[in-house]
Amino acid sequence: MLSHVSPEVGMISPRTRARMVARLQDEGIADERVLAAMAQLPRHLFVAEALSSRAYEPVSLPIGFGQTISQPLVVARMLEVLLQEASPHRVLEIGTGSGYHCALLAMLGMEVFSIERIEALQRRAAATLARLSLEVHLRHGDGALGWPERAPFDAIVFTAAVPCALPPLFAQLRPGGVLLMPVVENGRQRLRLRRWDGSRVEEQDLGPCHFVPLLAGTVSVSQEDTTWI
Ligand code: SAH
Repeated sequence: MLSHVSPEVGMISPRTRARMVARLQDEGIADERVLAAMAQLPRHLFVAEALSSRAYEPVSLPIGFGQTISQPLVVARMLEVLLQEASPHRVLEIGTGSGYHCALLAMLGMEVFSIERIEALQRRAAATLARLSLEVHLRHGDGALGWPERAPFDAIVFTAAVPCALPPLFAQLRPGGVLLMPVVENGRQRLRLRRWDGSRVEEQDLGPCHFVPLLAGTVSVSQEDTTWI
């Protein structure tokens, strides 16, 4: 499953990554596939060089434009839920950010589509994923609209907090598909799994969470303006 990642790149910081994975296990992540993918993917390539020594700490880190790469435990939990609940093949991620989460989805064998509203981040993620020889379909756009041309998906994952008024994207899910999303309710965020059977939705609460907000519209930035922090 991990043969896409060039061994040379994958060799950077293997010990630090192993420590991160051991900590994830201590925190309750048990899915071997998730742990193996996170042990292999060089997370430091998804943050600025100045932050690379912190890339394996249990924290979220800035990736520029006021956005963050989620902390490893949050990513691991979302991947674990997704694999256990849906075993998806085609996945849509809203909020590409650094590209780390969608790289892991691709390493776990999924065909991944991912939308980012900030063009400079989308371009940088595309470059990082290409460097790792990971194939992901990326698009600059407003993820609130989904990606109707490439639907239906087995799962749609939001990595930005969704206002509860957002129209659900059930029309872009196949029956039996799931939405995994942080939802804002009364100023607090909860991670929710919504199962769609084609006509009805069943919701499961997965506890409190903290993500940057889903924002409307898109931001175009020339590559010269690109800054990390
Ligand atoms: N999954 C990312 C973390 C994302 S942070 C990673 O692994 O690094 C959330 C991202 O969602 C930010 O990059 C932000 O710009 C993006 N975002 C926010 N609102 C959006 C929208 N409406 N459509 C697409 N992307 C959006």
